[in-house]
Amino acid sequence: MATEILTPVPLSTLQQTTDFTRRHIGPDIDQTAAMLAELGISSIEELMTQTVPDSIRLDDALDMADAVSEADALALLRRLADQNQVNRSYIGMGYHNTLVPNVILRNVMENPGWYTAYTPYQPEISQGRLEALLNYQQMVMDLTGMDLANASLLDEATAAAEAMTLCKRSNRKKSDIFFVADDVHPQTIDVIRTRAEYFGFEIVVGNPLTDLDHCDAFGVQLQYPGTYGDITDIKTLIEKARAQQAMVSVAADPLALVLLKSPGELGADVVLGSSQRFGVPMGFGGPHAAFFAASEKLKRSVPGRIIGVSIDANGNQALRMAMQTREQHIRREKATSNICTAQALLANMASFYCVYHGPDGLKTIAERVHRLTAILANGLKSKGVVVNDSYFDTLTLTLPETAAEVYQRALDAGCNLRQTAVDKLGVSLDETTRPEDIADLFDCVLGEGHGLSVAELDAAIVAGAATGITAEMRRSDAILSHPTFNSYHSETDMLRYMKRLENKDYSLVHGMIPLGSCTMKLNATAEMIPVTWPEFSNIHPFAPAEQVKGYQQMLTLLEEQLVEITGYDKVSLQPNSGASGEYAGLLAIRKYQASIGEGHRNVCLIPSSAHGTNPASAAMMDMKIIVTRCDEKGNVDVADLRAQAELHKDNLSCLMITYPSTHGVYEEDIVEICNIIHKNGGQVYMDGANMNAQVGISKPGLIGSDVSHLNLHKTFAIPHGGGGPGMGPIGVKSHLAPFLASHKVSPVTGLNPENGAVAATPYGSASILPITWMYNLMLGKSGLKRSTQMAILNANYMAEKLSGHYPILYRGRNNKVAHECIVDIRPLKEASGVTEEDIAKRLMDYGFHAPTMSFPVAGTLMIEPTESESKVEIDRFIDAMVQIKGEVEKVRSGHWPADNNPLCLAPHTQADMMAEEWNRPYTREEAVFPSRATRENKFWPTSNRIDNVYGDRNFICSCPAIETYMDDPI
Ligand SMILES: *Cc1c(COP(=O)(O)O)cnc(C)c1O
Repeated sequence: MATEILTPVPLSTLQQTTDFTRRHIGPDIDQTAAMLAELGISSIEELMTQTVPDSIRLDDALDMADAVSEADALALLRRLADQNQVNRSYIGMGYHNTLVPNVILRNVMENPGWYTAYTPYQPEISQGRLEALLNYQQMVMDLTGMDLANASLLDEATAAAEAMTLCKRSNRKKSDIFFVADDVHPQTIDVIRTRAEYFGFEIVVGNPLTDLDHCDAFGVQLQYPGTYGDITDIKTLIEKARAQQAMVSVAADPLALVLLKSPGELGADVVLGSSQRFGVPMGFGGPHAAFFAASEKLKRSVPGRIIGVSIDANGNQALRMAMQTREQHIRREKATSNICTAQALLANMASFYCVYHGPDGLKTIAERVHRLTAILANGLKSKGVVVNDSYFDTLTLTLPETAAEVYQRALDAGCNLRQTAVDKLGVSLDETTRPEDIADLFDCVLGEGHGLSVAELDAAIVAGAATGITAEMRRSDAILSHPTFNSYHSETDMLRYMKRLENKDYSLVHGMIPLGSCTMKLNATAEMIPVTWPEFSNIHPFAPAEQVKGYQQMLTLLEEQLVEITGYDKVSLQPNSGASGEYAGLLAIRKYQASIGEGHRNVCLIPSSAHGTNPASAAMMDMKIIVTRCDEKGNVDVADLRAQAELHKDNLSCLMITYPSTHGVYEEDIVEICNIIHKNGGQVYMDGANMNAQVGISKPGLIGSDVSHLNLHKTFAIPHGGGGPGMGPIGVKSHLAPFLASHKVSPVTGLNPENGAVAATPYGSASILPITWMYNLMLGKSGLKRSTQMAILNANYMAEKLSGHYPILYRGRNNKVAHECIVDIRPLKEASGVTEEDIAKRLMDYGFHAPTMSFPVAGTLMIEPTESESKVEIDRFIDAMVQIKGEVEKVRSGHWPADNNPLCLAPHTQADMMAEEWNRPYTREEAVFPSRATRENKFWPTSNRIDNVYGDRNFICSCPAIETYMDDPI
């Protein structure tokens, strides 16, 4: 041994351990060889030749750098981060400094147990984040005074756009006018305008006090408090809206709502906003959770996911996503919204912030912010500065002579103020503001020697001097009175509460999550570390350009990486999800077509196998959707596609197609398909959710498509966060580049600000983009390619080994699949009565998260192992599937009754194990320890099978009374 260690080896061998590719990819060299042997293939290259059509294969390697080690990549990024300047931000506009409670920072935001989970499609192993999201809904309902709330949307601006369409759908009034108050945040108005254009709504922006009466709108958008700080008299405005049968949506600040009368009490139909300032860093724009609350009568029209209360098979209370088996609002061409990935992780953080602080803590925070604002206001007024009379935390200073000078003085002191107009500056305070900061602000505005004392001004308020909130404006109802918000205020209790919830949830820390189309690969720690660096996380999205040079360089490099990987000419980093990327891409297509005099083109062809967000996004662009057929092999029926393209050639706008197909196959005809569309005057939108089967071996731009979104939270290592965040940047060919989304407040370099925005901030959720930057850098050109190859190998190995037991639904050339495979459960179901759902739930007993169920084909399971899973883990999954097949056989043969077997009664819980009675034809051991792996390491589902129907019939989306949490008294 000792001599071996002493034997000198070449330096190149010693460097191996810093190679990230080796860490990112699950199978080692021996496992890879074993899998290839199983497939009867000699090398990875041969697998590629057999699998990937020649017509789409890249000849050359990516023109990118070689891999950089974890340490070096972090050091490089550190240098960029250091070029960002973290000023104190008083800009406001919906983004505020916040103190992320450290217990939440470390144990949720920086904890893979929380951030690597998927959307809670399998509720029996997701009760933790479902409870946290239910708390979020309760928090939103309490603060807004509304009947129900969803579990988050992407950002405040898109939430307002959703509210507009909700008003239109729910209001019978014949009007296409949507009125937006002129004190709504400008970025929100920008996004509303973009969204309205293709719905054909007319946006009227005006002063609601004077202009609303004459405008005859179907809906009204207000801001509370307004963007300039005044506390909007929404009661009067809602009455004005009511007088013309218009519905009212109110964008509100959640911290202000702690003190102010709730919009619900004042009659709003919808209340939305950003929960960012509840303990989620600004992050140069995101990610943060938007909230969305509505009145009871709108419950079936609310966009996004709603968590609801139901019961499990044993009658115990349990949570799940309500009113949808998958996404009920994404009803293909009848869709009302395309939102899929939302902001679950950030919603959870905001809800934990409220759990930790409780109602009293929140009131203290809000009162303190307001008091400091009042001190600032009263001091400035006493010196003759004109500021608004009503306010919560934001003042607009009218400084006809000195605005520019004050702004500069503040900058010199390391403070960013809002440049509201040439003679106006905005100042927004927050929970991080201290009395010293007020003193500094006095100096900035008034110059030194002004003689104001914060303590004296405070004493005056205590003695009765006015503040910005009158008694009439204050709310008197209780908020957050549920025990959850009143029980965990010590750090020990909080830590344990969050850990208790985390322990209920299956995430990548437990085992593979083979969700087809979702690409649950490694989210490496080195990729995650920079996200919470203050130089990335404590920056306002509209901070001056000179302060974000590091960000700009990082974004530029990332764009270059993605341009090279996709073969497009330009990338837009604005969209916050795949679905919002689809929308942004279709928008670019339609604007381009309009620019060449073909704005009438409005037909969108979509193969029947498409993801539901494709038709939903097209519907939001007011397109006419024509669904084209697939053949029995799962491929696009080219003859039908050609016929439809020719039939609609005068009005053809585009095709939306996923590649490789959602059936997990490289269609041979993809190049021809692109040609057919182009020949008939259309553009090709390639859904990039399956880029994990293309990176380094093909490129959408090369294949012939014009635009794609990339789900960075699938292929490019951003974690799923239990249902968000995500990022859906789009790549486009040069002819579409001038039509990419820009931003009114902070225009994107090289684009016309009038292009309109699709998100609240110019670079979406900028603070998670370093994850992808690190991923690309650490893998480098060869690691990226290797990842794709290994994803394909893993999927083919999985398909090969399972095919002896289950039919594999679709295959491409040489019987190969791409990066995922579909297992057909229908024949088994027919023979035995056992359903795909039974198998999905039974997999939980074996310690797995189920694959994607019934998408894209009902009665199937779609499995995507990704490159990050080792052969050992894949074999463990295969063993479970094979053993389950044996169990199905016992049901089929009558050995086990159809209604009493481990499949239909799955999953099993610890309570099942300990039940006094056991009237089942299988043993307790077979129930919960069906394999050796489970005996060694058991993940316990916390609920039995959850009843969706019961919960929908008895719809509850608030925290249930505490008594219902209690089991029978012992
Ligand atoms: C995930 C997915 C989408 C939607 O992406 P989101 O980020 O959830 O909005 C669209 N198309 C396909 C094929 C997908 O798998």
